[in-house]
Amino acid sequence: MVSTSPTEPSAPVVPVHDDPALLSRALRTDGRRVKMHPLETSGRFSRVQVFLFPALIAFYAVLPWVNVGGHPAVLIDIPNRRFFLFGLTFNSTDFYLAFFVLSGIGFSLFVVSALFGRVWCGYACPQTVYLEGVYRKIEALMEGPARKRAQREAGGWTLDRLARLAVKHALFLAVSFVVAHLFIAYFASAEGVLAMIRQNPAENLTPFLWAWGTTLLLYFNFAWFREQLCIVLCPYGRLQGALYDADTITVGYDTRRGEPRGKKGSTTGDCVDCRKCVLVCPTGIDIRNGNQLECVGCAHCIDACDDVMVQVGRATGLIRYDSLAGLEGRARRFLRPRLYGYLVAALAGLAALTTAVSVRKSFDAALLRAQANPRERQGDLVIQRFVVHVNSKSDEPRTFEISLEAPAGAEVILPMKTLELQPFESRHVPAIVSLPFEKSGSGVLKLRTVEKESGKSRESQLPL
Ligand code: SF4
Ligand code: SF4
Repeated sequence: MVSTSPTEPSAPVVPVHDDPALLSRALRTDGRRVKMHPLETSGRFSRVQVFLFPALIAFYAVLPWVNVGGHPAVLIDIPNRRFFLFGLTFNSTDFYLAFFVLSGIGFSLFVVSALFGRVWCGYACPQTVYLEGVYRKIEALMEGPARKRAQREAGGWTLDRLARLAVKHALFLAVSFVVAHLFIAYFASAEGVLAMIRQNPAENLTPFLWAWGTTLLLYFNFAWFREQLCIVLCPYGRLQGALYDADTITVGYDTRRGEPRGKKGSTTGDCVDCRKCVLVCPTGIDIRNGNQLECVGCAHCIDACDDVMVQVGRATGLIRYDSLAGLEGRARRFLRPRLYGYLVAALAGLAALTTAVSVRKSFDAALLRAQANPRERQGDLVIQRFVVHVNSKSDEPRTFEISLEAPAGAEVILPMKTLELQPFESRHVPAIVSLPFEKSGSGVLKLRTVEKESGKSRESQLPL
C-alpha cells in the first residue's frame, strides 16, 4: 500500500507528462536533474525488501569479521598481494585466476539478467540496499514521509527545517563513516581497521585518508547523487539492453489491459492514471512508457499499482513481473537459445576456475637466467649464471630443499640448498655453472625443489 489513497490531492511533488520541460520526474529535457521524493510503498515486494535489506547489510558488514581457516572469510590484502576467500589463499602469481573468476561471475550475471532482468539491482546491489534500507529511513525519520518532505521544501528555509536537515546530514555522515570502515575492512581486515582507529592518524596517514575519502564519497552518493549512479554511471545498467530479450522477466505495464488510461469508466482501460506508479519510482520514470534503462527493477510500482487496483475494485497485476511476450499476450518461453549460450559460458568459466584452483600448487619454483651477465667465456670454460626462484603460497612457514643437476664435467655452485620461507614469502638464490667450452650447448641444467612438509616437488630446466 502506498502512503496515500488515489483520491488524495497531489502534494507539491514535481508533476510529469504535462510539463514539456521534463523528460521524466528525475530529469529535465536540458539534462538537469530534478530532486525527487519517491513516495513510500508497503506492498508484498516492499515487505520482502524490509527483511532482505537488513539481512544483506548484516552479511556485508559481518563478512570481514568472520574467520575461515585462520584468515578473514574475505580479505583483499593489496600491499602484500594476497587474497583470502572462504579458506582459500591466493597471491600475486595466482592473478590469472581472476580471469576465470570474472568470466564465471560475469556470465552467471548474464544468465540471471537474461532470466530475471535487474533483480540484482532491485534486491541486492549495495547501492539499493543502503539507499533504501538505511539512508531513506534516516531521511524519513528526520523529515517525515515523502509528501511531508516536499511540503517542507516548498515552505522555504525555516528554523525547524534547518535543524532537521542538520541532524539528518550529521547522521548521514556518521553512517557513511561506519560503512566506509566496514568497506575498508575488506582490504585491511577487521583487526587492522580496529588497530588503525586506535592509533594516531599520523601513523596511518594513507588508510586514514582512504577512510575519510570513502566516507565523503559515500556521503556524496547517498545524500545527493543517489539514483544518478544507476542512471548515468553504472555499466551493468547499460548492459541490460544487450542482455534482455522478449522472454526476460522484468517489471512491466500491461498496455493491453491498462489503455486507454483515464478515470474509471466503461470506455477506459484499467489504468486510472493516478500516477502512483510514477510517484513511487526511485528513478522517476513512468513504467507505462515501456521498459527503460533507468528501471532498477525495485517493484515499487507493482506494489503501488496493486494497491490502487484493489481500491478501484480491479484485478491486481496491471504492473507486474512478466516478460514482454507475456505482456503482449504471446506464449512465454523460459529456456531459449541465448540462455543456453550464457549458461555454457558461465559453466565453462566456473569449471575452469574450479579446475585451476584444485590443481594449484602450494608453491612455485623456477629456474631463470640471471639478468646481469648470464653467460661469459673465461679461457676454456663457459660460465653461466642462473637464479632459482621459489615462491611459497602457503600461509604457514615452509622449508624447501633445492638441488641442481648438470651434465658430467660441469661444476655447479649453489650457495643455499635449504630455504626456510615465511608465509607467502618468495626468495631468489643465485647459481653459477661452469662447463668446458666444447660441452656448452649440449645439455640441460635441471632444478628440483621439494617442499619438506608435504613432500611435494617441482622441476624446471634450462639448456646450458
Ligand atoms: S498503472 Fe496503476 S499506479 Fe500507474 S497510473 Fe495506472 S493505475 Fe495508477
Ligand atoms: S519503474 Fe517500477 S520497478 Fe522500475 S525503478 Fe521505477 S518503481 Fe522500480
